[in-house]
Amino acid sequence: MKQDKYIPGIYNYCDRWCERCLFGHKCLLYAKEQKRLARHQAKGEEPYDWNTVMQDIKEDFDETLKLLYKIEEEQGIDLNALPEEEYKKYDPSNHPLMKTANGYLNVARKFLENIRKTIQKEGVDLTRRIEIIPSAKGDMATLKEIISSYEVISWYHTLLPVKIHRALKSKMERHTGEFSQSDADGSAKVAYIAITKSMNALKVIYDWDEDLKDSALTLLVEIEKLRKGVDKEFPGHHTFKRPGFDD
Ligand code: SF4
Repeated sequence: MKQDKYIPGIYNYCDRWCERCLFGHKCLLYAKEQKRLARHQAKGEEPYDWNTVMQDIKEDFDETLKLLYKIEEEQGIDLNALPEEEYKKYDPSNHPLMKTANGYLNVARKFLENIRKTIQKEGVDLTRRIEIIPSAKGDMATLKEIISSYEVISWYHTLLPVKIHRALKSKMERHTGEFSQSDADGSAKVAYIAITKSMNALKVIYDWDEDLKDSALTLLVEIEKLRKGVDKEFPGHHTFKRPGFDD
């Protein structure tokens, strides 16, 4: 990794929303993905085609293996002679916080379907209104804000269970080393930021549409439970410094 060009590990504690990220130019993962897309486009291949993706994964594995063999050689380690240790599995699926996160995911999914329909209807209505009353163009800014709030809720409702799962799992593994506790706090911080942004977006929707008020409120109650749970379970997230974002 070119240390001066990229921020080491920045992608470990981000929200993976690269289109909205201000640090794409500092992120090795983003650079690699752009390179991958360009390579496939140059060959006239569809980068998200299943076979193409599988081929890319295979190449990544090959690259990792090469690196591993290089380390093996340089450090004189025999990977075939490592002691056999039973790997203990940690599974936080039944943790109450995990259940709250999954509950939020399910309620949010239905809510998003409703907002999508309301936005589509409003888009059609607004286009007609603008034809009759040109000054109605001003309402376009409101609609854009609603669409942006929809995107925020949509992006984070799936990210939240993933990050909370990782945070809980790392916390369970914390006796295995310092990294695990730190990883738990970092993942919890990403979840906490996602919660805060989702709450703000939900408030925008709450104020916008009378018919969506009740369901927006239900979701706000659910996500507040999640916020309190993350705070209680991972107090260290407040002081965790994400590479790049909090430097
Ligand atoms: S740091 Fe930014 S550019 Fe890199 S993977 Fe995360 S969101 Fe994407």
